[in-house]
Amino acid sequence: MAGLYIHIPFCASRCIYCDFYSTTSRNRSHFIPRLLDEARASLAKFPTRTFRTVYIGGGTPSQLSPLEINTLINGLNEIFDLANVDEFTLEMNPEDVTPQYVAALPSAINRVSMGVQSFIDRELQLLHRRHDSRRPAEAVRILRGKGIQNISIDLMYGLPTQTTESFSRSIDAAIGLETQHISAYNLSVEVGTPLAKMVDNGVVSVADDELCNEMNALLRNKLRAAGFAQYEISNYARAGYESRHNSSYWDGTPYLGLGPGAHSYDGQCQRWWNEPNLAAYLIGQCPTGQETLSADDRYNERVMLGLRTARGVNSFALAKNHPSQYRTIFQPASRRLIDEGLLLADETSGDIRIAPDALHLADYIIRELMV
Ligand code: SF4
Repeated sequence: MAGLYIHIPFCASRCIYCDFYSTTSRNRSHFIPRLLDEARASLAKFPTRTFRTVYIGGGTPSQLSPLEINTLINGLNEIFDLANVDEFTLEMNPEDVTPQYVAALPSAINRVSMGVQSFIDRELQLLHRRHDSRRPAEAVRILRGKGIQNISIDLMYGLPTQTTESFSRSIDAAIGLETQHISAYNLSVEVGTPLAKMVDNGVVSVADDELCNEMNALLRNKLRAAGFAQYEISNYARAGYESRHNSSYWDGTPYLGLGPGAHSYDGQCQRWWNEPNLAAYLIGQCPTGQETLSADDRYNERVMLGLRTARGVNSFALAKNHPSQYRTIFQPASRRLIDEGLLLADETSGDIRIAPDALHLADYIIRELMV
């Protein structure tokens, strides 16, 4: 069953590394009605109106008032069939999680994802995050008080000034919150961000590959010891708490994206999107784009997304659905990578996955298998 993603492009301030589409504009008086207009219009194009997962992301969705979130969800309920939604995620900034705010949220929301990034104040200030190192614990306490038990937090590593020791303290603090899910991302310096300018001007330097690999290994070991399973390169969960919405991106499930900058996929070969342009979106004239995926594109996506997961990619399905790419690329390259110990194969199920010790080489391995 399909997933529904809603992009809320508002942020109170901008973090120095961020290249997601978001704005500090406060002009959102027509935003919810426009989202609902787009939802209605999507019925003509998207293959289903029944969704299994909903994810309100951004930006910072918790910049919307609870009234706006209620209006949005009530409106979506009238347009789509959300009766079978089993995972309904709202992204929140820890600073926005107050008892009053959480008490007024719709009961449909059963999962919250928070961008924590670090538990070291110096690192948070450098990134221009709004919260301090104590706020996430308070936010988790408030969410649990409202009955939201399924909580995910994001961490980052490879940050300027971050050391293995400071990252180790952040991991311990994250584990100490006893959340069900932790995502951890290696900082990447994206062109056009304030961070890129700071790096170019020599104001800060980011961790080199060796240090990042060391931090990643530390993360994996600590989270495994704490009972988390790594089910995707950047994602760890306690049993039964893997993100269903994100998993559907990796297994090729169709998804509908609403809001400026949001992308949609029909599960076959069509992908379309709204350009990241809030002003145009608010007057109902957001430019859109569309692409038809070629056979090679679809093969590449399957390999790339599958190999990011702990289950891996299924060679029987590849041979059936992408016979030419399988024969000419996948079969010879995967045999070599298996011989080198970088891939593991399950002969019975046909699943092929990256060996746990080789996860830091994932980019190289995936490149070797792509057309
Ligand atoms: S809060 Fe999130 S979306 Fe907003 S600027 Fe920071 S990282 Fe980007």
